Amino acid sequence: MYKYIPTMLAPNVYNIDFATLYEEGIRNILFDLDNTIATYEEHIATPEHIAFFQQLKRIGLNVYILSNNRKKRVYQFIEGLGVDGALSHAQKPFTKKIANYLQKNAIPIEETIFIGDQILTDISCANRLGVKSILVQSISRQTEKWYTRINRQREKKVIQIIGKENPQLANELMKMITKEKNNE
Ligand SMILES: [Mg+2]
Repeated sequence: MYKYIPTMLAPNVYNIDFATLYEEGIRNILFDLDNTIATYEEHIATPEHIAFFQQLKRIGLNVYILSNNRKKRVYQFIEGLGVDGALSHAQKPFTKKIANYLQKNAIPIEETIFIGDQILTDISCANRLGVKSILVQSISRQTEKWYTRINRQREKKVIQIIGKENPQLANELMKMITKEKNNE
């Protein structure tokens, strides 16, 4: 079950202390896109998104978007966002495509952190790659696709199993995946 356990938890990407991560040696941030950075309805980056990414760049971080979504969605959104790179059809939780991407872009595992809203794709992928991870709450669960809803059911089962060894962590994880950022 260790492969499903994130290094850290955060309510959303704006609540992460990136300056401290930088001080701790992190140089590269790998972001999931859908429901981590933006809802499925947000096709282009908002001024808030742009300001957020500028702030990360000012800290000295390299930022990448790794999404299972299609090319058009990813590239339309990152236009003008100033990211260092993006990968669509990333095939999370499988690591082959992402590991190749990291190697090609000289992104060292130990200086990298993965941020996403799904345990079974984002966190599992991060752990398989050996990078640190932060689980955030989904921005909007209403708009999740059918395959994500299936993943969410599997996610609950995984958390129940984690709960046998670590009830407190399971409790926190369950709260994370059942609460929406927009409805707090
Ligand atoms: Mg997501």
